[in-house]
Amino acid sequence: MEDSTMTDVIIVGAGCAGLTAAVYAIRAGLSVLVFEKYMYGGQISVSSEVENYPSIEKISGPDLSNNIYQQAINQGADIRFEEVLSVQLDGTEKTVTTAENTYAAKAVIIANGVQRRTLGCAGEEEFTGRGVSYCATCDGAFFRGKTVAVVGGGNTALEDALFLSNLCEKVYIIHRSEALRGEKVMRDAVLSRANITVLYDTTVQEIRGESKVSSVHVQNSQTDESSVLPVDAVFIAIGLAPDNQIFSALALDSAGYLVADENCTTAIPGVYVAGDNRTKLLRQIITAAADGAVAAFQAANYINVLSD
Ligand code: NAP
Repeated sequence: MEDSTMTDVIIVGAGCAGLTAAVYAIRAGLSVLVFEKYMYGGQISVSSEVENYPSIEKISGPDLSNNIYQQAINQGADIRFEEVLSVQLDGTEKTVTTAENTYAAKAVIIANGVQRRTLGCAGEEEFTGRGVSYCATCDGAFFRGKTVAVVGGGNTALEDALFLSNLCEKVYIIHRSEALRGEKVMRDAVLSRANITVLYDTTVQEIRGESKVSSVHVQNSQTDESSVLPVDAVFIAIGLAPDNQIFSALALDSAGYLVADENCTTAIPGVYVAGDNRTKLLRQIITAAADGAVAAFQAANYINVLSD
């Protein structure tokens, strides 16, 4: 089916970048359609707490997501929960095909964010949803009073470990390197918690269980020594990776990020990229919001010139 209405701007993704772009585009007088595959808010919706957004001392990730979503809705955003399957970005009439329909637009802002990385070890896929989780905020409460492991050494893993240590009896952090990578304030907090043990230079070999997870098998890369940790859950927090295959008409870097600078422009006129999906120094909520504003501003300028 094809929707013959020409929208000014289609935004792919309702995370912080996409929703900020929607607010700016609407306020510039443009008609806007936003498509989201899963849950609005993107990575923020699965963050436990945010303490580094200006003027907000502390807020939970889901609350911040809801605020951004509600703000976009209140400004008049039309947000549809449809997965984008393909795009045609050339020319002055671009099309975006979702699982439901094909939509036409003058400009497209790609703000599809990034996906969580997977470990690829035995048992990971088999036990996903049965003790293997990628979201401590969402699933942590199921393991109250239990022993759990968090895999990773970045801010997400540290944040997850702190969150879980308030609920669980014991939390292991399994980290492949010799030092934690997360911010100092987070590292200090983790290292001062009595019920968190960090296993450095340690990789996950296998996650085992029967109907649900009962242990994680690890190996120390310095000593080659293997051990078995009895755990009820394994939270995997090993970072994020782009998923930009459907936008391969645009340039991607070797890691798969869309190539763009602070202007959020691409080689195709009328196509902009915003947020964690693009090449950039710092992937944070504030830089995603900034990109959303810039991309919408660029789209408005492009459309103004088109209609002259
Ligand atoms: P990250 O900073 O990229 O860290 C990923 C961690 O996972 C690293 O410690 C890495 O180990 C490990 N890792 C990667 N691939 C692995 C594999 N195949 N097997 C085992 N371990 C693996 O990712 P993140 O923690 O998700 O954070 C992503 C971004 O969000 C960062 O910019 C972060 O600062 C930001 N963030 C900010 C906040 C906040 O400000 N409140 C909270 C969460 C996240 P190595 O260290 O050995 O490479």
